[in-house]
Amino acid sequence: MTQRRLTLGAVFLLLALWGFLPEFTVTMLNYIGLYALVAVGLVMLTGVGGMTSFGQAAFVGLGAYATAWFCTAPAAESLVGLAPGSAALPWVGLLVGLVLSATVAWLLGAVTVRLSGHYLPLGTIAWGLSLYFLFGNLEFLGGHTGLAGLPALSLAGFDLRSVRELGLLIWAVLLLTLWALHNLLDSREGRAIRALKTGRVMAESMGVDTARYRIKVFVLAALLASLSGWMYAHLQRFVNPTPFNLNIGIEYLFMAVVGGAGHLWGAVLGAALITLMKQYLQDILPSLLGSSGNFEVIVFGLLMLLVLQRFSDGLWPSLARLVNRYLRAPPLASGDGGRGLTQRQLPAKDSVVLGASGVSKRFGGLLANNQVDLDVRAGEIHALIGPNGAGKSTFFNMISGVDDPSSGVVKLLGRDMLGQSSRAFAAGGLGRTFQHVRLLGPRSVLDNVALGAHLRGHHGWIASMLRLDRAEEAALMAEARRQIERCDLGPQMHETAASLALGQQRIVEIARALTGHPSVLLLDEPAAGLPHMEKQALGRLLTQLRDEGMAILVVEHDMEFVMNIADRVTVLEFGQVIAHGTPAQVQVDPKVVAAYLGGVEVEFKP
Ligand code: ADP
Ligand code: MG
Repeated sequence: MTQRRLTLGAVFLLLALWGFLPEFTVTMLNYIGLYALVAVGLVMLTGVGGMTSFGQAAFVGLGAYATAWFCTAPAAESLVGLAPGSAALPWVGLLVGLVLSATVAWLLGAVTVRLSGHYLPLGTIAWGLSLYFLFGNLEFLGGHTGLAGLPALSLAGFDLRSVRELGLLIWAVLLLTLWALHNLLDSREGRAIRALKTGRVMAESMGVDTARYRIKVFVLAALLASLSGWMYAHLQRFVNPTPFNLNIGIEYLFMAVVGGAGHLWGAVLGAALITLMKQYLQDILPSLLGSSGNFEVIVFGLLMLLVLQRFSDGLWPSLARLVNRYLRAPPLASGDGGRGLTQRQLPAKDSVVLGASGVSKRFGGLLANNQVDLDVRAGEIHALIGPNGAGKSTFFNMISGVDDPSSGVVKLLGRDMLGQSSRAFAAGGLGRTFQHVRLLGPRSVLDNVALGAHLRGHHGWIASMLRLDRAEEAALMAEARRQIERCDLGPQMHETAASLALGQQRIVEIARALTGHPSVLLLDEPAAGLPHMEKQALGRLLTQLRDEGMAILVVEHDMEFVMNIADRVTVLEFGQVIAHGTPAQVQVDPKVVAAYLGGVEVEFKP
């Protein structure tokens, strides 16, 4: 039995039993389905994309109120030309709700998503509260009484009048959503969404437009919430503001977190647990304690604390581990394919790939880079060295688009890169690694490396959800495998990045950069903290890449490492170039010996 079969089996079992389940069970399942739809949006937002929202209930409200108003207001008739009671009205309501939610989410997202730290969650609380009070205070939405008299949904001539009938629609929508999101996460676009979590600089360097992706995830989550609100309204047949307040927004977040915010099925598990627990506690506590009151809220809060304390990743991972013991692992995809990816022509040997001239960077009163000239040619390893605080990392940022120079020119393959983002540098053929390794720890090496090929694919979210991207995806994965093999990481391909030693993680970053097929490779202190053997392996890999025609710039601290592999060396001190030449020339330069080595003679191995 495989995971897929188990899932399909459970779905068919649910379908087969649907007609025989007691009415109460069906009602509970309906609510679980509706809540799970919202929670799964939060999984995408929080667990996958790394953004927390307390305000999803407000989007459920937008979806519910949009359809409620269209189905009940007399003014709706003159607006859309449908008589009251027309079976098409709820569908107009759905469309309006989705458009409205997407618009509001886009606007709010454009403002809040750029906030960092605590400000984003606080921002979502702010608009969650505002929308809730808006629902309650608008005359035409019925104020705190709400709107009643919603019709039943009618689908292809069938009235979904009973909870059992409507439940089929709810669960069909939920399961289709899970399928589409599963596909999305298993694609190039999904890797880009996951990359949001490791921070802007890394994702942007891989060519991911982080601001755009963040807003898109935000809109996606809002659309799912709105869709849930639409079905909720037609299940209840009336709406009032209560189910869309901030408390419920917090509960949705609980569902995602308790279930497992990093897993789509965690949303379903969380929704089920919390719905059942609330129901059960509401029934049992008053009789247990002999008096009525909202005791369930207290017990509920304590239970949440316990679960979060014990299972910080939510319950789904533990459950999945337990079940997976009895399941056959799916076959790992084989390594064929790899055609159809556009190959960049490497520049001719010895031509300048990346050139900086007169680059200066001022931080307030400090001149971190002062008129630095440096070029990197195809087929050479150029090392930039200098003592701590010399301005190496600052220069690295100037020539990779992370930061703009105060003055000076940076050219990539002859193109002036003034004011360009690191995304533009990536698109122009620059690959880079990070001084502090930035990988997605829980993801496999293969997955991490495949992110490097982001700019080499073009299929969007919808195509990925519908699995229309499979040929391209196979080609991207084949390319990732090829680079992993080339970097001698084949045996670790399916291990998680976090389980590797630091040296290997650095090599994973190089493989990731290579997957983007760069013309120039920038490495910030690649040998730092590596044991001797791993340093040698790294040196061999870099010389091999150089011989294949890659232009490589290594910013390093480790003199011995650099002198063994570099063709040319540039030495920085206090932001200024003090020497430049072959390793042999630089080593005997008195200025270098004095500045960099503090006047102490150091012996270099040949
Ligand atoms: P290196 O990488 O060679 O060790 P850096 O480029 O990190 O050196 O730093 C060069 C100098 O610039 C240091 O004095 C550092 O304190 C300063 N510096 C670096 N980044 C900033 C910044 N964002 N703001 C202010 N000063 C900075
Ligand atoms: Mg540095």
